[in-house]
Amino acid sequence: MPDSLQATRRLGADEVEVLLPADRLRARVGEIGREITRDYAGKPVVLVGVLKGALVFLADLMRSIDLPVSLDFVGLSSYVGTQTSGSIELTADLTRPIEGKHVILVEDIVDTGLTMQWLLGRLAERRPASLAVCALLVKPSRARVQVPVRYQGFEIADEFVVGYGLDHEGRLRNLPFVGVVRG
Ligand code: 5GP
Repeated sequence: MPDSLQATRRLGADEVEVLLPADRLRARVGEIGREITRDYAGKPVVLVGVLKGALVFLADLMRSIDLPVSLDFVGLSSYVGTQTSGSIELTADLTRPIEGKHVILVEDIVDTGLTMQWLLGRLAERRPASLAVCALLVKPSRARVQVPVRYQGFEIADEFVVGYGLDHEGRLRNLPFVGVVRG
């Protein structure tokens, strides 16, 4: 059955409804890669992935960017259960300085925007030549702060999504599509 017609998939105990099938993800990620290639023509870029959710998106995205690319990661403590970004902390920091570099922060999803706002502030202090945000998914109805997302894959409704790197209690990151747990 073609990927785009598959409505639900069972993985262990989880029944997941397909929201964004793998072929749509592939097409959109390719478009974003070409856009980045045009925008940064001739300039080397540093892609900074936010662990762990951005891993799959980043792996596909970097292969559709036709520029000299280097790669780094940050890890963040979660602020789940609190209402502010006050408790966010870096659990893994960049391995190299970004001063003077063109940096693209690659994130799985911008929900309230608090994480990205916090991270942008921290990385801006390190004086990159430029700093842009690339997010696969954005939930506009949940925004509490406005984050300048320069490259965006899809806008989605206020539903908790999994797959293509996004997890549900540590599971389901390996689904090749983005979906919603239904049972
Ligand atoms: P924000 O700070 O924008 O509210 O949240 C950002 C982080 O919350 C994301 O990087 C992600 O880890 C998590 N998150 C927000 N919405 C979802 C969702 O629908 N599914 C999953 N798996 N994680 C989410």
